[in-house]
Amino acid sequence: MTLHKGASESDRKQTGHPVNPFYGEADPVAGMETAPPQHTLPDGPLSPHTAYQFVHDELMLDGNSRLNLATFVTTWMEPQAGVLMAECRDKNMIDKDEYPRTAELEKRCVAMLSDLWHAPDPAAAVGCSTTGSSEACMLAGMAFKRRWMQRNKDRYPAKARPNLVMGANVQVCWEKFCNFWEVEARTVPMEGDRFHLDAASAAELCDENTIGVVAILGSTFDGSYEPVADICAALDELQEKRGWDIPVHVDGASGAMIAPFLDPELRWDFRLPRVASINTSGHKYGLVYPGVGWALWRDTKALPEELVFRVNYLGGDMPTFALNFSRPGAQVAAQYYTFLRLGRAGFRAVQQATRDVACSMAERIGALGDFRLLTKGDQLPVFAFTTADHVTAFDVFDVSRRMRERGWLVPAYTFPPNREDLSVLRVVCRNGFSMDLADLFLADLEQLLTELREQPGPMKRPENVATAFHH
Ligand SMILES: *Cc1c(COP(=O)(O)O)cnc(C)c1O
Repeated sequence: MTLHKGASESDRKQTGHPVNPFYGEADPVAGMETAPPQHTLPDGPLSPHTAYQFVHDELMLDGNSRLNLATFVTTWMEPQAGVLMAECRDKNMIDKDEYPRTAELEKRCVAMLSDLWHAPDPAAAVGCSTTGSSEACMLAGMAFKRRWMQRNKDRYPAKARPNLVMGANVQVCWEKFCNFWEVEARTVPMEGDRFHLDAASAAELCDENTIGVVAILGSTFDGSYEPVADICAALDELQEKRGWDIPVHVDGASGAMIAPFLDPELRWDFRLPRVASINTSGHKYGLVYPGVGWALWRDTKALPEELVFRVNYLGGDMPTFALNFSRPGAQVAAQYYTFLRLGRAGFRAVQQATRDVACSMAERIGALGDFRLLTKGDQLPVFAFTTADHVTAFDVFDVSRRMRERGWLVPAYTFPPNREDLSVLRVVCRNGFSMDLADLFLADLEQLLTELREQPGPMKRPENVATAFHH
C-alpha cells in the first residue's frame, strides 16, 4: 500500500473543531465538545454513532466508483452477493480446518477455472486463490524462477542471472516481481503502432537464462490481446534451434474471464502446451468486489513442490501457496456465488453486454472527429484513444480534467518506451456501466468539446503529471 509518513508537527498539534450539538456530533459518551484528533490516537472512546458519522462524512468526498472508468475492478454486485460477503467477513481464508466449507468453495472455483481454461488433465492442474492478480503473478514468477534454478543448480547465482521476457506494456506487478525477486526484466518496447509484445521480439530477447515469457490477455494500456499462440510457436521454434525450453505465463488478469466466453476459438490457454500457468483477477471480469485473484498451473510439474507450505498448527494439513497468511474468506464465497449464479451462458451474456457498450462508445467517440482510436473495445471491453492529428486546441489531459468536473473519471496517461510521445485516454467498461450511462457520458463529452475546441491551446501542466491509471 501507499508508503505513508507519520503525522507532521502541525498535524499533531491540531486542535479539534467545535462540534454542532444539533447535527448530532456532540457525544454523550465522551462528553465531547470538540472533534477528536485525526493524527494521534484520541484519549478516550466515542459512541459508535459519532464515530460512524465522522468517518462516513469524510468518505463522502471519495469519487463515485460506478463513474470510475479508470478501474478494471468490480464496482457493482447483486445485493445477495453483498449479503453473502457480510456473512463471511469474519472467516479467515487460511483457517482451512476451521472453515472447511469455505476451503471447499475455493477448491471448486479452482476446478471450474481449470476446466474453463482447458487444462489437459483437470485433475492434475493445481491452483489457489490470492488477494488479486499481483499476488498470483508473484507466485507464477516464483515458480518460473525456482524451476530455472533447479535446471541451473551449477550456474546460479555465481555464473548466471535469471531474466524474464515481456512487453514494456506489462502491468506494474511484473516490474515488482523482477525487483523483489532479483530477476532481470527484459522488456520489448512498443514500436510505431505495435503497442504490445510480438512473437519475434519476444523470442529474440530469450536466452538460456530466461525463466519464462509473460504474455498478457489483454494489455492494461489499451485492452488489446497479446498474440499468445504466436509467442508459443516462436518459442517452439527457438527450442528446436537452441534447445531452450522456455515456459509461458499468461497474465489473464482481465482477459482470462472474457476470452473463454466471447472468443472461444482463440487459443491462448492450457490448450497451448507451452502455457505453464495462468492468472486472473476474480475482482475484475470475474465480477467480484475487490480482494480476490486466481493462479493456476497446468500440472504439478509446473509448480515446484518445494514452494508449497504445509502448516499443521491450525489443525489439518492443507498445502498452501501464498505470500500472505490471513485473508478474508468473503471474496472466495462471492466468486463461487458468481460462478453458480451465472454459469457459462450468464457470463457470456454479461461480458457480451459490456463489450457491446465498449464497442458502441468507441465507435461514437471515433465519429466525433476530434479523436483517433487506438483500440475499439472488441477484445477487452476497454479502448484507448488520443486526439486527432489536426487537433491543436486541447490535449487528452484537458479532456480528462474537464470530464472530472462532471463526475466522470477517465484517466489520461503517456505510453511506455518507445512511445512516450503518445498520450491517451482510456475507458474501461464494466458490468453495471450500462448503455444509458454511456449515452450520458457521450452527451457530456460532446458538450465539453464545444468549449475545448475554443481553447487557444492545451492547458499547461507540470511535467510528468499523468492521472493515476495503473489498475
Ligand atoms: C490489474 C492487472 C494486474 C494486477 O492485478 P490486481 O488484481 O489489481 O493485483 C496484473 N496484470 C494485469 C494485466 C492487470 O490488468
